[in-house]
Amino acid sequence: MFWLRGLIRISTSSIHKTTTINTKSYLFTSLSHFTTATSTSTSTSTSPTKPPEKYAGLGPTKSDEKPRVVVLGTGWAGCRLMKGIDTSIYDVVCVSPRNHMVFTPLLASTCVGTLEFRSVAEPIGRIQPAISREPNSYFFLAKCTSIDTNTHQVHCETVTDGVDAVDPWKFKVSYDKLVIALGSEPTTFGIHGVKEHAIFLREVYHAQEIRRKLLLNLMLSDVPGISEEEKSRLLHCVVVGGGPTGVEFSGELSDFITKDVHQRYAHVKNYIHVTLIEANEILSSFDDRLRRYASKQLTKSGVRLVRGIVKDVEPQKLILNDGSEVPYGLLVWSTGVGPSPFVKSLDLPKAKGGRIGIDEWLRVPSVQDVFAIGDCSGFLESTGKPILPALAQVAERQGKYLANHLNKIGKAGGARANSAKDMDFGEQFVYKHLGSMATIGRYKALVDLRQSKDAKGLSMAGFTSWFIWRSAYLTRVISWRNRFYVAINWLTTFVFGRDISRI
Ligand SMILES: Cc1cc2nc3c(=O)[nH]c(=O)nc-3n(C[C@H](O)[C@H](O)[C@H](O)COP(=O)(O)OP(=O)(O)OC[C@H]3O[C@@H](n4cnc5c(N)ncnc54)[C@H](O)[C@@H]3O)c2cc1C
Repeated sequence: MFWLRGLIRISTSSIHKTTTINTKSYLFTSLSHFTTATSTSTSTSTSPTKPPEKYAGLGPTKSDEKPRVVVLGTGWAGCRLMKGIDTSIYDVVCVSPRNHMVFTPLLASTCVGTLEFRSVAEPIGRIQPAISREPNSYFFLAKCTSIDTNTHQVHCETVTDGVDAVDPWKFKVSYDKLVIALGSEPTTFGIHGVKEHAIFLREVYHAQEIRRKLLLNLMLSDVPGISEEEKSRLLHCVVVGGGPTGVEFSGELSDFITKDVHQRYAHVKNYIHVTLIEANEILSSFDDRLRRYASKQLTKSGVRLVRGIVKDVEPQKLILNDGSEVPYGLLVWSTGVGPSPFVKSLDLPKAKGGRIGIDEWLRVPSVQDVFAIGDCSGFLESTGKPILPALAQVAERQGKYLANHLNKIGKAGGARANSAKDMDFGEQFVYKHLGSMATIGRYKALVDLRQSKDAKGLSMAGFTSWFIWRSAYLTRVISWRNRFYVAINWLTTFVFGRDISRI
C-alpha cells in the first residue's frame, strides 16, 4: 500500500499552497549561493524600468561550471524545452510566476468539477528533475522585468500573492543561452469593464474563480426573498468568444446544468442558462459542416447562441453594439490572445502583431544567444513564413526542436555565451499542422485531422470524435501521475456526478 499512501500525500498538497510556501523558503536559500552584484550594468536594457543600484544575482558562468540556459516561462513551450535539454551539458534556470505547467486543453473541464485542478497542473520539478537536484539549476518564482542582451542578463522580481505576499525581491541572472517563452495574454480590444468584471480562462486560478462564482450564484439564488429577476441574472452564465475555448467551456457548462444542477439544485433548474456571444461564426477554424453540427448540438443542449459585438461591460450586465443589454451572474471572456505588454515593451525585433520576431531557427536576429518560442514569438516577414497560430501543438514542437538544437550546439562546443556566432545551425524549424479537436458537450466532439480547411483527410463529429478527443488528450497529459488522476476523475464524474462543494 506504499504506493497508495504516496499518491494520497501528493494529492493532498494544493497547487496554490505549494506555490506560495516555496516562494519564501526556496528562493532565499537559493539566493545564499549567489554572488552579490555591486553595480548595475550600464544599461542598454530592453525595458524602461531602471533596476535598483545593488542586488543579488547569478553571475556569468565560470569555465569550471556548466553553461547556463535561462528559460522564461513555464508554459507548453518552456516546459517542453526544459524536458528535452541535456542537463549533462547545461544547467537550467527557469524564471516564471507559476511553478507548474497547465495542461490547457483540459482546463475548461476543471471549471465545473469534471476534473480536479491538480489533474491539469504539472510541477516543474517533475518535468525537469535537474531543477530540483542539480546544484546550479534553479526554478525562481518570479517574473522577468527586463532583458539586457548586451550583458547577457535578465532582471527579475519575485511574485507572491494572497496573504503570503511579500515585497518583491529583485535579482538578476546571467545567461549563456536565453529562451523566451512568455506566452500571450487574453485580448479585450480595449472594451471598458472586461478586465474588472469578466473572468478569463487561461490559468488554474481562473478556473478556480469560475467554479467558486458558479457555485456561489447557485446557492445565492436558492435563498428566500430573492426576486425572480435577480435569480435569472445570477444564474445567467455568459461566455464571450466562440473559439474552441469558449465553445468547450459552454459545452462543459451545459453538461453540468443538465446532469448535476437538475439533480442537485432542482429548485432553480429552470432559471440557469448559458449564452454564447460571438461576433462572427463560432469555431471559425473548422469547416462549415463541423461548425453547423456544433451549433446544432449546442442549441440542443440549451446554449443560446447570439451573434453580437460587446460594447461595454458593467458589473451585472453587458451591452451589445445594437444597444441590447444582457444581465449576467457569471461572465467568461475568451476572445483570443495577443502579446503581453511586457513582450511588446521589449526592444527586440518584432513580427507582425507585436510578437517577438524570430528566424527559421527560432533565433531572435540581431542579438546573440536569444531564442523565442511559443505564443510570444512569430516568424519575421523576411523569412517568408506565416505567423503560426497560438496553439499548444506549435509551442510544444518549437520547444522540442530548440532543445535538440541547443543540445547539438552544446556538443559542438557552442554552449557558452557568444560562442555559437559562426556555427552552422542545421535544419530549420518546420511546422506541420496535425489537426484540431474540440468537445461540445453531451459526449460529442469535432475532430478535423486535415492540415487546412480545404485539404483532404479525416474530419468527423459525434460520439466517436468525442472518444478520440478523450483518448488523445489522456495520452498527451504530461505525466503518468496526472494521466491517472484524469482517468480517475472522469470515472468518478461518470459514476457519482461532479463535485459541487464550494471549498
Ligand atoms: C483554455 C485553453 C484551452 C486550450 N486548448 C488548446 C488545445 O486544445 N490545443 C492547442 O493546441 N492549444 C490549446 N490552447 C492554446 C495553448 O494553451 C497555448 O497556445 C499554449 O499554452 C502556448 O504555450 P506558451 O508556452 O507559448 O505559453 P503559455 O503556456 O501561456 O506559458 C507562458 C508562461 O510564461 C509565464 N510568464 C508570463 N509573463 C512572464 C514574465 N514576465 N516572466 C516570466 N514568466 C512569465 C507564464 O506564467 C507562463 O508560465 C488552449 C489555451 C487555453 C487557455
